[in-house]
Amino acid sequence: MQKDQLLTRRRALLAGAVTLGAAVPAGGRGGRVRSGRGVGDLLVHRASPPAAGAPAARRPLRPSEYRLRPLTGYGPPRTVPGRTPVREEPLLKVPDNGRTVVLTFDDGPDPRYTPDILDTLARHEVRAMFFVCGEMAHYNPDLLARMADEGHVVGNHTWSHPLLTSLRRRTIRSEMERTSDVVERHHGTRPEWFRAPYGAWNRAAFELGAELGMEPLAWTVDTLDWTEPGTRTIVGRVEDGAAPGVVVLSHDAGGDRSQSVKALRSYLPHLLDSGYHVTVPRREYV
Ligand code: ZN
Repeated sequence: MQKDQLLTRRRALLAGAVTLGAAVPAGGRGGRVRSGRGVGDLLVHRASPPAAGAPAARRPLRPSEYRLRPLTGYGPPRTVPGRTPVREEPLLKVPDNGRTVVLTFDDGPDPRYTPDILDTLARHEVRAMFFVCGEMAHYNPDLLARMADEGHVVGNHTWSHPLLTSLRRRTIRSEMERTSDVVERHHGTRPEWFRAPYGAWNRAAFELGAELGMEPLAWTVDTLDWTEPGTRTIVGRVEDGAAPGVVVLSHDAGGDRSQSVKALRSYLPHLLDSGYHVTVPRREYV
């Protein structure tokens, strides 16, 4: 089987598995709560640590308690105590006290589509997450700089978008480290979030991500925009899946993403009109 076919099939399987449990109806739409969306208000504050994906979800932990918790997983902890824990599964959504939705765009930046997405986000004064590939970032440093200027969060999506489960550990490390380096160079900060290509995680990805100070973030709602299902279908998937704490997966590169660009122009104002805050997560609350 060709590599591309294998990856596409795996991607479809993984995406299907994630979306099965993801289509939570929004409910209660219609309230026009659009105040407080200035840049300074975009971060969601919460009083207690969250449930989704966090260790020891049975009982809320104080932040200090959480940080000192023995690291779970595989052998002695590799992280510096108090730094990023080694998780055994990625976060699928973000903690939420209200109606927060996180929009994520993977595989870019691509000068054909990313500027349009940034324009739409700017028009509505919201921030989003871009899980960039180092290779793309290397060739489009101006877009990384623009993301920084406009307050967007840039995550690490590896250098060349490989299937990590097929790689040796040192290659995975190189894929991740090089990407964090190029993001730091052009965005100004090292990524605090990592997303495995195709959603294919393994132990090395969690351990190396933690070593590099990154939390693993997957998604709740997959738009499957890479299959080019039509703009209306993408819009429908986002709006049907919208719910507090949801993380939406779209793509700004890797193929013809004009549908993704158009869809954002439609669903973003609708989400905001429905009372959702479209924002980025804070590391200290996951
Ligand atoms: Zn990807």
